[in-house]
Amino acid sequence: MRGGTLTKGDESPVTVADFAAQAVVAATLVRRLGELSLVGEEDAADLSEPLRDGVVSLVSAALGSTVGSATVLDWIALGGADGSGSRYWTLDPIDGTKGFLRGDQYAIALALVEDGEVVLGVLGCPNLPNPDGSRGATFVADGDGSRAWYGDDAQPRVVRVVAPATLSEARLCESVEAGHSAHDDSARVIARLGITTEPYRIDSQCKYAAVGRGDASIYLRLPTRQGYREKIWDHAAGKLVVECAGGTVTDADGRRLDFGHGRRLERNRGIVATAGAFHDEVLEAVRAVLTGSAGDSDGTVRAPLQQ
Ligand code: AMP
Ligand code: MG
Repeated sequence: MRGGTLTKGDESPVTVADFAAQAVVAATLVRRLGELSLVGEEDAADLSEPLRDGVVSLVSAALGSTVGSATVLDWIALGGADGSGSRYWTLDPIDGTKGFLRGDQYAIALALVEDGEVVLGVLGCPNLPNPDGSRGATFVADGDGSRAWYGDDAQPRVVRVVAPATLSEARLCESVEAGHSAHDDSARVIARLGITTEPYRIDSQCKYAAVGRGDASIYLRLPTRQGYREKIWDHAAGKLVVECAGGTVTDADGRRLDFGHGRRLERNRGIVATAGAFHDEVLEAVRAVLTGSAGDSDGTVRAPLQQ
């Protein structure tokens, strides 16, 4: 499935891919596990008539059998849980939509949450460049650590963070989209930490994968506007990949990410994920930047998250 193939028609082509992926993952989970609670990004009510046939044929192709439109809609609707239960799955069927359309990075992200904590995370990163020159990797994180599968080798590889000897040698990754993560603030953090390499900009939860296996050592996601709350499906799987690889993940204020408040991270703002060793120093630099004490050119002093 290529982004270009799906850009025809007058609706956003990614909508077709997002809906189809949500249907396939939901159907697979239900067939294997029976009844479950799923918080998926897509809402079946948004699937407009002109897109239905495209979605149904993508789902049929992926599952290897012809499926009716009503069944596909039911599968998508399975993702309508609100995250209020003590045990739920959460799915971003295509995280990093803009990267997907550019032919860059995107991820299929699935996680299991129990009592507000992520206990299983799976990241499919079909286009991620690997150290062995291949592309595409699948990351799985659980109580036994993080593993990744890529290249010709069928054996899982242990995923471990790599911390640089000094903070100034750290490689920081962030969103490609300035509307999703404040590039100006992260540039101030980078300057404050003395980091000299340019930020590694990649879409989606591939950023967590990059930190988890040492392609980068910091992932910063600083709010672009007051009041934005991160979506649980944008972070659940990736956060566990980094933590099980030995790294640390908090919000921009150093709080643990709390997945116990519905479809959004209501008690958090922003994301700071690191290889672990210098997490506090990064948080301190973020705090200085977000409160304006790092010398904003406009002198803005920003208030901490109100709870
Ligand atoms: P990325 O690929 O890292 O840019 O993240 C993609 C995700 O950004 C999407 O799945 C959206 O849910 C999310 N997003 C959309 N608007 C914002 C925003 N203003 N701040 C943070 N994330 C956003
Ligand atoms: Mg997303």
